Amino acid sequence: MEASPGRWREAARRFVETAVEPHADEIDRADRLPPTVLSELRASGFMGLGLPPEWGGTGGGPGDVAAVLEELSASSAAVATLLAVHLSVAAQPISVWGTAAQKTDFLRPLAEGRFLGAFALTEPEVGSDAGALRTRYTREGDAFVLTGAKMFITNAASADVLLTFATRDPALGRKGISAFLVPKGAAGFTIAQHLVKLGLRGSETAELALDHVRLGSDALLGPEGEGLRVALSALGGGRVGIAACALGVARAAFEEMVRLAKADPEDWKRSVVARSYVDLAAARALVDQAVAEREAGRPAIEAASTAKLYASQAAMRIANKTFELAGPPASRSGSRANRYLRDARVFPIVEGTTEIQELILGRTLIGRE
Ligand SMILES: Cc1cc2nc3c(=O)[nH]c(=O)nc-3n(C[C@H](O)[C@H](O)[C@H](O)COP(=O)(O)OP(=O)(O)OC[C@H]3O[C@@H](n4cnc5c(N)ncnc54)[C@H](O)[C@@H]3O)c2cc1C
Repeated sequence: MEASPGRWREAARRFVETAVEPHADEIDRADRLPPTVLSELRASGFMGLGLPPEWGGTGGGPGDVAAVLEELSASSAAVATLLAVHLSVAAQPISVWGTAAQKTDFLRPLAEGRFLGAFALTEPEVGSDAGALRTRYTREGDAFVLTGAKMFITNAASADVLLTFATRDPALGRKGISAFLVPKGAAGFTIAQHLVKLGLRGSETAELALDHVRLGSDALLGPEGEGLRVALSALGGGRVGIAACALGVARAAFEEMVRLAKADPEDWKRSVVARSYVDLAAARALVDQAVAEREAGRPAIEAASTAKLYASQAAMRIANKTFELAGPPASRSGSRANRYLRDARVFPIVEGTTEIQELILGRTLIGRE
């Protein structure tokens, strides 16, 4: 089934051909993107996609962002995830909540590809229940001082700026949380460990330590105490991006499945291909629906959760069937079917697990109490 055409989708296809596909296996063996791939991505214009042109953005809307992420992800989920995090949950929130000075210092270099962004919400003890986070900040005169730890942070070690969440007092719950822009090299900020993962290899993931990281008052993004609102608004758009990344892996796995089935056709394989085709079509329709709502300027909370939930599960189902069709060779590293299955497993977890998407949808459909 054909994806809708567009200038940015075409640009992403050309980029994949020259800058990603030749390195796809090398990326899968690495714990971060090879420097040549990252520098080509910085120069591609994709890092400013959907961001305001007056701050260095390169144009395009939510549909273009989703199209580019899908195309990149069909070749390398690691490259797509780096870009999804940079755009949706690092640069976009600065564009929405930032002051003119923060946009000058961070948004413009992010949009121009000179900076890479990261989003640091999850902690070693806190994931889905983000309101319970423990990284603390205190005020010392005009300064904010952050102490704590962050876990599973994408782009962390290479990022030039990390949108980081901390609480004034855990007893205040969600009202205690504020968002801060932590620049690379801030004193007291260190990488505690690089994480080696099952899938999405080549996408850098790390645990961070914050030990009395002193920031000026200009590091606060959005009003004090509104940090969770900043995080949730970023994740709303981010989920459409993750759904598009999952769609890319689902599509690539499906194409591999068709190739394998054609090479040795049997009726049971035709049935597997037919079921996967329907699954992929449904995932695409839900991603398109979420994108259409974002294009119309709506937050698309339900549509984004629906698309993220379905596309990430569909990617796992399709990759799993491709793995089965490929037979024993799929168990060897270097096999595409092997990589698709490992990469697909990440999407139901990141930016809100499947169960959290169900909670969001259930509360919207039935009411909270
Ligand atoms: C590769 C990768 C990259 C990541 N990148 C980032 C990043 O850049 N920035 C960042 O901040 N985080 C990042 N994360 C973290 C990710 O967002 C969290 O892993 C996710 O939010 C889940 O949190 P958790 O792992 O602590 O699981 P938990 O919250 O401990 O959940 C464990 C299980 O319990 C289920 N569960 C939890 N609460 C409920 C409930 N109320 N009802 C029903 N089921 C529930 C969950 O669905 C899950 O299956 C990344 C994770 C991975 C794996």
